[in-house]
Amino acid sequence: MTHSIPNNIAIAGAGLLGRLLAWQLLQANCKVTLFEAGSFTPDTPQTNRAAAFTAAGMIAPLSEAVVSDEGVYRMGQFALQQWPQWLSKLQMQTAPLFFQHGSLVIAHPQDISELDQFERELQFVIPQCKTYRRVNQQQIQELEPDLNPNFSQGLFLAEEGHVHNRELLRVLLSEISLLGAKLREFTPVEVAANKIITEASEEEFDLVIDCRGMGARDQHPQLRGVRGETLHVETKEIQLQRPVRLMHPRYQLYIVPKLNNRFIIGATQIESEDRSPVTLQSSLELSSALYTLSPAFAEARIIEMDVNLRPAYMDNLPKVIIQDGLITANGLFRHGYLLAPAMVENVLAHIFQKEEKVFNELLNC
Ligand SMILES: Cc1cc2nc3c(=O)[nH]c(=O)nc-3n(C[C@H](O)[C@H](O)[C@H](O)COP(=O)(O)OP(=O)(O)OC[C@H]3O[C@@H](n4cnc5c(N)ncnc54)[C@H](O)[C@@H]3O)c2cc1C
Repeated sequence: MTHSIPNNIAIAGAGLLGRLLAWQLLQANCKVTLFEAGSFTPDTPQTNRAAAFTAAGMIAPLSEAVVSDEGVYRMGQFALQQWPQWLSKLQMQTAPLFFQHGSLVIAHPQDISELDQFERELQFVIPQCKTYRRVNQQQIQELEPDLNPNFSQGLFLAEEGHVHNRELLRVLLSEISLLGAKLREFTPVEVAANKIITEASEEEFDLVIDCRGMGARDQHPQLRGVRGETLHVETKEIQLQRPVRLMHPRYQLYIVPKLNNRFIIGATQIESEDRSPVTLQSSLELSSALYTLSPAFAEARIIEMDVNLRPAYMDNLPKVIIQDGLITANGLFRHGYLLAPAMVENVLAHIFQKEEKVFNELLNC
C-alpha cells in the first residue's frame, strides 16, 4: 500500500464486508465505488447471492469458539461491542436490528451426552468462562415458554446476540447510497493493484479492496466453499426471544427468530461447492428436528429454502492480505457477522495508518 492515505477507493463485492467497508469509508469522507456481480437487492435464493443473505445472523462467540479457537472468541466479543455502536449510527433503520438476549443450547434427554460434550469443549477453549450457565427444565421454560417442555437440561450463553441480517444489508445499501457512493451492480470484476477490470474497461483507483467472498476464488485458489442449507418458516403459534441450538448426534440444528413471525433453521455444513437446491434428506432432518423443538411448528409455512457457500481458507480462519494498492479481506467462513467488525477495524487501520494491534496477529498474513 502507498504511504499516502487513499481517497478514491473501489470495493469489489457488495456482501457483508463490502457493504460495511463502503459505509465506514464514506463516513470517513473517502470516495467509494462499489462493484457487485449480481443485484444489490437479490430477493430470490436462485441467484448466486452473497452468503450474507443466506446467513442466520447469529453473533455467537462462545458457540463458535467450540468449533474454532480462542482468537475467534476474542474477535466475537469485539463484535458484541461494535454492532450496537455501529447500528446506533444507521439513519435509515426503522426497527431494531441487533439483539443481545443470549442463546440457548438444549438436547433431548437421550442426547444429553452431546450437551455435556459441548460444555466440555467450551471449557477447554475458554477456560473459566463465566458467561454461561447450566439451566434446568423450569429455567428453559422461563427463558423460552413456547419450547417443548420435555427439554430437561440446557446451557444458557448469556452474552450471545443475533442480528436481522437481511434487513441490515438493505439498510446499509440505503446508507451507502445516501452518503454518495457510486453503485455498480451486475458488474462482475477482476481486481489488481489500483485497478478494477470489468468486461468493458479497466479503471484506476488509489486503492482496491477485494471483498468478493467465493467470487475471489480464481485469484485465491486456496479458498474453498462450504455448503450450508437453510429453511425459512413463518408461524404466529410460536415466539422465541433468542437463537436456540439443538444438540444431536448427527447434526446441530439452530433456529433464529426473525422479523414478521419468521424463523430461519439450519444445520448443515457440507464440504461441497454444490449450489444446487436443498436435498430432501436435509429438508426432512431440518423439519423433523424443528417439530421436536415444538409440535406447534407443524403448522408453520415453509416460505423459503436457501443454499449458499461459506468462503473459507483451509484453516477456516479469516485473512486480510495487504499489498500495494490492493487489500484482500476474505475467509469469514461460518463466522461472517461474528468476525466482520474485527476485520473491518483491521482494514480501516491499514488504510488510515492507525495502530491496530489487537487483531493484527489473528488476521494478517
Ligand atoms: C447457511 C449459512 C449460514 C450462516 N450463518 C451465519 C451466522 O449465523 N453468523 C455468522 O456470523 N455468519 C454466518 N454465515 C457466514 C456468513 O454468511 C459469511 O461468512 C459472510 O457472508 C462472508 O461475507 P463476505 O462479504 O466475505 O462474502 P459474501 O457475503 O458472500 O459477499 C461476497 C459478494 O461479492 C460478490 N461477488 C462475487 N464475485 C464477484 C465479482 N467477480 N465481482 C463483483 N462482485 C462479486 C457476490 O455476489 C457477493 O455479493 C453463514 C453462512 C451460510 C452459508
